[in-house]
Amino acid sequence: SGEVIIAGGGLAGSEAAWQLAARGVQVRLYEMRPGKMTPAHETPLLAELVCSNSLGGERTTTPAGILKAELSRMDSLIMKCAEESRVPAGNALAVDRNAFARLVNDLVSEHPNVEVVRKELTEIPREPAIIATGPLTSDAMAKAISELTGEKFLYFFDAVAPIVDISTVDMTKAFRANRYGTEGDYINCPMNKEEYALFWRELVNAETAPRHSFEEEGARRFEGCLPVEVIAKRGEQTLLYGPLRPVGFRDANAGAEPYAVVQLRQDNNEGTLYNIVGFQTNLKWGEQERVFRLIPALRNAEFVRKGVMHRNLFVCAPEALDAKLRFRGREALYLAGQASGVEGYMESTATGLAAALFAYAGIRGLPDFSFPRETAVGSLINYLQSALPEAFQPMNVNLGIFPKLSGRKIYKRTERCQAYASRSAAALEKFIAGNAGLFEKNDPSL
Ligand code: FAD
Repeated sequence: SGEVIIAGGGLAGSEAAWQLAARGVQVRLYEMRPGKMTPAHETPLLAELVCSNSLGGERTTTPAGILKAELSRMDSLIMKCAEESRVPAGNALAVDRNAFARLVNDLVSEHPNVEVVRKELTEIPREPAIIATGPLTSDAMAKAISELTGEKFLYFFDAVAPIVDISTVDMTKAFRANRYGTEGDYINCPMNKEEYALFWRELVNAETAPRHSFEEEGARRFEGCLPVEVIAKRGEQTLLYGPLRPVGFRDANAGAEPYAVVQLRQDNNEGTLYNIVGFQTNLKWGEQERVFRLIPALRNAEFVRKGVMHRNLFVCAPEALDAKLRFRGREALYLAGQASGVEGYMESTATGLAAALFAYAGIRGLPDFSFPRETAVGSLINYLQSALPEAFQPMNVNLGIFPKLSGRKIYKRTERCQAYASRSAAALEKFIAGNAGLFEKNDPSL
């Protein structure tokens, strides 16, 4: 039959169900709650937001806003419900979480083409199917996915160091070099003894984010990757033998080996973003800025992504998935949501929408397509395909994943975003016009 099975009624699964149902496809959506809860969900509602009630920036002067505009243009259910349940939040789209989830829940459950089955799926379903069981996928399903991808390509825990915008790093207080070399790829931020002492004291006393017990358990299982504040607490000198080791460096400004060195490593192709090496952390977000800005070169640094350490199931997308979000070698078995290697509410939604359209094209025998590279959706999928597998990390939407703009360099970030947004909108219109079969919905009830 053409019926599509969807595993997981979170953001991605609900979006995928809606997109298919709206096109006249029968959907059976399996959601394990409330019979079986995840460690973070609290209600039986589909599309429950597990943490923040903000879906991020809304204006097209931010990358998140570009993604939202694209999703709205493609009739995203999540966007529609978010707009209907919005609460004031400046330039961001924030929602009343209960009203939002209730809307999604009711629209999906009451759709004549959708059957919601409140049951845990413990095996990979028959095709066509979309797996969207999220970062907290149940153990049985996680096992089934790991059998499919190979254990090596399924991760259970995420430890990310903060990422800074390199244009905000004070290069008069930093130098470029590799250890034991003069030239180099790393940007090194030296500290003298007094600066280090202050940094260490504030680091060990900084406030950490509250952790769920399931995350403590995950952290224990995650070997060789301790939070920087935990290493620091082992003793004042410990970091100097770990991530802040100064040996092999000569600080051109000071003319001698620095007391401590924090290294920044390039994080995107454009070379605009750098991560702080070894600084995976569980500090509260505000505390990360306060403490890490005690490193002289980072005094005014802009942190574009904070460090996190949490449970997060995701596949090594460049190894496990193909360009249509299918498990490699499978005809019609798709993976969507956070588990596919994206990060964030709207990014998860975007892959849910994309997987549904890929599945729909397969069922109806429509011509092959891919989302335009100029769009945020196309760029996210491209990232999943082209990222380096060894260092693969889930990605949120940011300008670094889009193709570069041609023409003169635009220095102001909001203007640059706006230029990306216009380019994306034009590409999306062309794509929609060129793929009429994909976008002409045939459900008379809508
Ligand atoms: P989910 O929304 O989690 O949906 C998956 C669904 O599948 C759930 O309803 C679950 O009950 C169900 N399920 C699981 N296993 C099975 C099974 N075997 N059978 C049937 N159903 C199953 N992103 C942000 O942008 N902002 C945040 O503030 C934020 N906070 C987060 C906090 C935590 C603790 C975590 C873990 C993640 C957070 N994320 C956040 C990341 C991510 O955006 C969200 O997790 C998002 O909900 C992912 O969407 P999803 O559809 O992939 O998964």
